This record gives sequence, structure tokens and C-alpha cells, in this order.
Amino acid sequence: MSAIEELTAAFARLPGIGRKTAQRLTYFLLKQPKEEAARLARALEAIGERVRACSRCGNLTEADPCDICADQRRDQATICVVEEASDVLAIERAGEFRGVYHVLGGRLSPLDGVGPDQLAIRALLARCGNGGHVTEVILATNASVEGEATAHYLERALSGSGARISRLARGLPAGSELEYADGETIAQAIAARRPLAS
Ligand SMILES: [Zn+2]
Repeated sequence: MSAIEELTAAFARLPGIGRKTAQRLTYFLLKQPKEEAARLARALEAIGERVRACSRCGNLTEADPCDICADQRRDQATICVVEEASDVLAIERAGEFRGVYHVLGGRLSPLDGVGPDQLAIRALLARCGNGGHVTEVILATNASVEGEATAHYLERALSGSGARISRLARGLPAGSELEYADGETIAQAIAARRPLAS
């Protein structure tokens, strides 16, 4: 494979980028000064080498624990459970939430072979377990079918933990991804979160 083909193929594997856009990006870079491509290469290398998952919450970070877990001004007793690290970013952008997070790394999806063991559920239960000081768990999985199923599963799994369990309010459009919601909508959904019965 030529260098041009290789880069085009790599771009085309990114989400939302088709073959045509991949080609356009490749030829755009070829027209730029060499330094521009080198800077991109360095940035890609850096995220591979420096960014990892926070050992406590699973958020992507360069420091472990991440800035959010390490921040003692944040309410460590309130955990917001999200599917992906990009959801943390979306909720932080809303600027309303002062607790900490737990990143599942996906959602339950039996058809795709994703069961509880494929997600960071055991780690969540450990954080919320006996002797822990967690008082509230906010289930902020997406409003999709799988996101709802994941929330139901967690609700049952956490029922003995002693923590109050709530779900984001329905301000978020059904089927929508948290990542793409605007900050105002997310802030409202957190403020109006509803307690679950268990
Ligand atoms: Zn963390």
C-alpha cells in the first residue's frame, strides 16, 4: 500500500468519515507545509502514549487519578455513570454537575456480545459497595434502547448498595446521544433527575 493509500484508509476508519472525505483530508495534508503533518503525527503519537483510563473512574486522562477524581472540592459521594469518556466531557461542558463519574466503556448489547463483564460494572459495584460513602448514583446512560436496558440492569445491581439511585430526566430526546446534547439540556436533565424506586 502506498503512503497515500495508507493514510486515506486510516482516515476512512474514523467514525463519520467516508472514503471521499478521507481522500480529501489526505490531499489537504499533502498541500500543507511538512511541519503541519509532523505536528499531527506528534499529536496522534502523544494521545497513544500519554492518555489512559483513570484507574478510579475510567475517564480518559494523562494523570491517574484524573483531575475530576483528584479534585477534593467535588462531591465524591455522588457518582454519575456514563457510557463513554466523551460523555464526561459533555456533562462537564454543561457545568452543572459537581460530583464524580464512572465510565462504563459502552452499553449492554447482547447482540454485539457486550454483557456486564465487558463493561466496568464490577468496578462500579465495588465503588458503591459496603463501607463505601457513595450516597447517590445518577444513571446517565444514553436514552437509546441499549442505554435504557443498561440503566435498568444497574438499577437492580445497585439496589442493595444503600445509595440513592436516579436517572437523567427526560429533557433529553429519546434515542439521543448525550455527547451531542447541548449543555443547557444536559444541565436541566441533571437538575430534574428522577429517583428510581429501588
Ligand atoms: Zn477519574
